[in-house]
Amino acid sequence: MDTKRILTGDRPTGKLHIGHYFGSLQNRVKLQQIYETFIEVADVQALTDNFANPEKVKNNVKEIVMDELAVGIDPNKVTFFLQSMIPEIAELTVFYSNLVTIARLERNPTVKTEIAQKREIFGESVTYGFLGYPVSQAADITAFDATLIPVGEDQLPLIEQCREIVRKFNSIYGETLKEPQAYLGENKRIKGLDGNEKMGKSLGNAIYLADNEEEIVKKVMSAITDPNRIKKDDPGNPNICMVAYYHNLFSTKEEIEAICEECKKGKRGCVTCKKQLIKNIVEHLAPIQEKRHYYEERPKLVKEILIEGTVKARKEAKITMEKVKNAMKLDYFKEG
Ligand code: SF4
Repeated sequence: MDTKRILTGDRPTGKLHIGHYFGSLQNRVKLQQIYETFIEVADVQALTDNFANPEKVKNNVKEIVMDELAVGIDPNKVTFFLQSMIPEIAELTVFYSNLVTIARLERNPTVKTEIAQKREIFGESVTYGFLGYPVSQAADITAFDATLIPVGEDQLPLIEQCREIVRKFNSIYGETLKEPQAYLGENKRIKGLDGNEKMGKSLGNAIYLADNEEEIVKKVMSAITDPNRIKKDDPGNPNICMVAYYHNLFSTKEEIEAICEECKKGKRGCVTCKKQLIKNIVEHLAPIQEKRHYYEERPKLVKEILIEGTVKARKEAKITMEKVKNAMKLDYFKEG
């Protein structure tokens, strides 16, 4: 195992979907073999835009962990921890908040995009907590000395912001924190069933890892196909069809070639095409759901995994905290 440490995680705001699966979870399963991996269940961050809905955040904590375990994250290799149970992260956030200007946060492209997407929550003025979440993220990363952070391209500005905080901290208080690097890896963004660039619960365009066959049938049957195809024998264009897009994720190379050829020649009906996709999705998700079911029946085990990981993570965070406080001369009661 490489000595580099990875920090990654999810906000517990809903079950994980196939966008997460192809976008990051599959990558995590591979990375756990190479690097020491910490996975944060970011409940504090989830509250930045769900502050009025703590039940939702709480209820999704175990769902997220079960999804991660179901896809093959090995709790013996990976440290799962709950953000709110590591008070050192909140403490670091306060210290780091002196090292970032409001203007810099407002200019962060990732934050700008997210604020625009969350207008219905914030209206015209965003909260201090949400604006500052990149600072809290810098605390997440540095608390555990993580040096490699798997992200999508759209999150690169968050890593850059963290690196700036680390550099500023080290230049003022002395070399203390490690500067992390982004790991772009194979992070893919998967489009929603409606063709939207983003898949998400609020958009109603996602297939969840835990969806049963009935739900999958309903969702795939409503997926957007080539709108110019009226009759079955009209020649189609798979490049503008979401069913073909998902076949690329779930079907074999031979199946995809046949689908595209028959579609273009008007020899394939969209219903047949959708049914084949449903079958492939159901088959692909079956072992994941079987594993999920195992954990669903053992809630105590899921809780133990989270507690054990959180205890381990907290030990690491305490070591960082001591170094940070020493560097900042916040060591009043120290002996000697
Ligand atoms: Fe899409 Fe398949 Fe219909 Fe072609 S036949 S438009 S690929 S659903």
